[in-house]
Amino acid sequence: MKNLRFTSRTVHGEKGYDPHTGAISFPIYQSATFRHPGLGESTGYDYTRSENPTREQVASTVANLESGNFGFAFSSGMAAISTVLELFKPGDHLVVSDDLYGGSYRLFEEISRGHGLDFTYVDSSNIDHAAAAVRDNTRAFFMETPSNPMMKVTDIRALVSLARTRQLITIIDNTFFTPYLQRPLELGADIVVHSGTKFLSGHNDTLAGFIVLNDEEMAERIRLVQKSVGAVLSPFDSWLVIRGLKTLALRLDKQQQNAIAVARWLQKHHRVKNVYYVGLPDHAGHDICKNQASGYGAMISFTVKDAALIPRILNQVELIAFAESLGGVESLITYPLTQTHAAIPEDIRRRLGIDDKLLRLSVGIEDVDDILTDLDRALS
Ligand SMILES: *Cc1c(COP(=O)(O)O)cnc(C)c1O
Repeated sequence: MKNLRFTSRTVHGEKGYDPHTGAISFPIYQSATFRHPGLGESTGYDYTRSENPTREQVASTVANLESGNFGFAFSSGMAAISTVLELFKPGDHLVVSDDLYGGSYRLFEEISRGHGLDFTYVDSSNIDHAAAAVRDNTRAFFMETPSNPMMKVTDIRALVSLARTRQLITIIDNTFFTPYLQRPLELGADIVVHSGTKFLSGHNDTLAGFIVLNDEEMAERIRLVQKSVGAVLSPFDSWLVIRGLKTLALRLDKQQQNAIAVARWLQKHHRVKNVYYVGLPDHAGHDICKNQASGYGAMISFTVKDAALIPRILNQVELIAFAESLGGVESLITYPLTQTHAAIPEDIRRRLGIDDKLLRLSVGIEDVDDILTDLDRALS
């Protein structure tokens, strides 16, 4: 179906329905292998590690939503990110956001560095810092925006124009905003990666990862690495993401509406020190965000005045689950210091402000009054 608007495309997916049976719910092609019609002939499907109809449907749908030509679905966000790194070779250098998902940091430092890649971490909300870190062997920028967990915003257009003057690849982790709110490829970025575990699937029920890009040569390389290494999204998990995507816009609208109310409420609470939410007009990245995205998402970080409150808050929350992850319909609270960002060395954490007083909240679609009641009890 052509020329549908964004929300309709989330509902109907790339193909709309199963072309073979007319099934409205795209079938789960739970088959490892496919029968050949004859010698040298193929239905287009040979073996599920190489291609599978359900995985193709979810990958091409996410590519379509991100305004990209090529999409690939992986078994997790980290599988997608590690596959992107296969575009580089030993001796290559990447300039990376310093405030970044802890698992990405661990991959870069503990795996990729051992394979000869080099990384410099910069505060990419300041483009001058990104520019100053570029060296002769720099090949790419890898940035998260908004970043995790401090919600720093990188000016994607400015980053792209800097990248183009130095012939660098711009890679954006778009997990926090999804293509519903922000489409980096439209702003000139080369590659978008996702943890589809989060907002895209949206129900805290599956892991998934995506790569979307326009360049055919790089897409062929990604296809080769994916089928050679094999971290593919299973047919059932592909279907879960297809189903989750149908309500992406509804969920995000509600989550964002709740998040704005929660952020304002936290700002007024006497036990809360700082609130980091890009939707607040006094957030440093608010205006850039307004320029490159159509909303502010549902992720809030905040600090409490006294670290002694933290264990109590995490014990007292009931509706809001104390759990890692984000983006689903259920509200979750995370303690980055010991959970998502435990892999980051103390000096870097301290510089970023990831300390013993920081909590991260992923706001779900529950009734906002119940979320506030839960927080009120936990903070009292
Ligand atoms: C969760 C997350 C990842 C990793 O994704 P998994 O699906 O957990 O492997 C990468 N980037 C960001 C921003 C994330 O939040």
